[in-house]
Amino acid sequence: MGKTDIHKLPLGNCNCYLIKQEGLVLVDTGFANQKDNFLRRLEGLSITPKDISLILLTHGHYDHIGSAADLRKLTGAKIAINYRERDWVEQALKRLPPGIGFPGKVVALMTRVMALMVEFPRCPVDLGLEDEVFSLRPFGIEGTVLYTPGHTWGSMSVLLDTGDAFVGDLAMSVMPLRFNSGMPSLGDDRNTVKESWRLLLDNGARTIHPAHGHSFSADVLKKGLSG
Ligand SMILES: [Zn+2]
Repeated sequence: MGKTDIHKLPLGNCNCYLIKQEGLVLVDTGFANQKDNFLRRLEGLSITPKDISLILLTHGHYDHIGSAADLRKLTGAKIAINYRERDWVEQALKRLPPGIGFPGKVVALMTRVMALMVEFPRCPVDLGLEDEVFSLRPFGIEGTVLYTPGHTWGSMSVLLDTGDAFVGDLAMSVMPLRFNSGMPSLGDDRNTVKESWRLLLDNGARTIHPAHGHSFSADVLKKGLSG
């Protein structure tokens, strides 16, 4: 396995990740209007936008897909998302899941209020992914995209052969109104979240890179399964 560089790119209140091995793949695109922010960060890394060949959207919430149209144009990369949420991107829909637990309900309410103020452009989807394992080898990355529902029914995660897992909102860590890592504050189904954690662990996930908060050990998920 060659060298792996993982660059965390906060684009609005959402961590996007640029994974560099032989190829370059971007996970998520952040809020709307993040094009200049994205370009500045790439310049700092001496990476040319056109070298990115794939943009994987972990799911279709507006804080992850807001700049998809801009970044697709800028990079020429293919946009991929699970087929269930293809419309959310192509029609710029603002779908939001319910809160999990009391703090989650507060976050859910805040997210809904914020969503009223957010507009983002529609973006064509190039690859509507099925639930089967999707290999990233054609894009120069030793890893796969796995179907990991729970936060939404179309959520997917990138799992590298190194054990690095980019999970979108399938797990969250410390952020406003959160003091620990693990169960996301919002989600469609708590038990399905846990099943997806198990899938990631069974497939060798060692480090979790969430869209909100810092990266943490996969042991946290292991403990969450027994709790
Ligand atoms: Zn989300």
